Amino acid sequence: MLTNYHTHTTFCDGKSTVEEVVLTALEKGFDAIGFSGHGYTAFDYSYCMRDTDGYLAEIRRVKEKYGKEIEIYAGVEEDSSYPLDHSQFDYVLGSSHYFRVGGVYYPVDSSYECMQVAVSVYRGDAIRMAEDYYGAFCTYINTYRPDIIGHFDLLTKFDEQHPFFLPNEEYRALAVKCALEAAKSGAIFEVNTGAISRGYRTTPYPHAEILHALKKEGAKVILCADSHHKDTIDFGFEDAKALLREIGFTSVMHLHRGEFKSEAI
Ligand SMILES: [Zn+2]
Ligand SMILES: [Zn+2]
Repeated sequence: MLTNYHTHTTFCDGKSTVEEVVLTALEKGFDAIGFSGHGYTAFDYSYCMRDTDGYLAEIRRVKEKYGKEIEIYAGVEEDSSYPLDHSQFDYVLGSSHYFRVGGVYYPVDSSYECMQVAVSVYRGDAIRMAEDYYGAFCTYINTYRPDIIGHFDLLTKFDEQHPFFLPNEEYRALAVKCALEAAKSGAIFEVNTGAISRGYRTTPYPHAEILHALKKEGAKVILCADSHHKDTIDFGFEDAKALLREIGFTSVMHLHRGEFKSEAI
């Protein structure tokens, strides 16, 4: 099956409309497309959805129009610091986009410069930063039980240009330990190609060491593009599948007829 469940539109920080995305998915021969607008967060309006009802109504409208040709799902990318009412959505992708220090939210992924502000709060201590980040994320995952865990190690977004976390062996061991802790929730790990399409990374999230550990543990994975434009809804999927096969994965998950099912790769 050709699918993507991590899709942003003009309802949040995406560049294409819901209908444009569906039309592109149809052209590309997709079996299913899932929308995952950034869930509302009261402390940061810069990229979240402020009209969730309008978003859900628009997805219902395109579903009526194209629902016989393609499966269309209304999901959400919920930020771990602002859990929502899950019952409104077909599925929940849970992501952590902030370091929360002393009641202040520092975005993890907006820019390297912004990340440096958070690094200075931690006095350059990568391990303490990562402990706080993954600790809060795992608590959220095990409490609110999202269906999919979004870009688990987003905090390494700028690491290829500005190595900070990944060269640190202690960090990598901590990330693996926390990923295994998160996997206990039964949530599906997203293999996310979004930072590749936007030129930040050459490999998907999570880091290969995490993927190896998840494979050993029997965790499930799903391939997602984290697309912010209709042209990137399947970006890097073939390379990501090749990487998963190399690591030993034999299947990926898809949301099909309302249920998550595995399919061989
Ligand atoms: Zn995200
Ligand atoms: Zn996203």
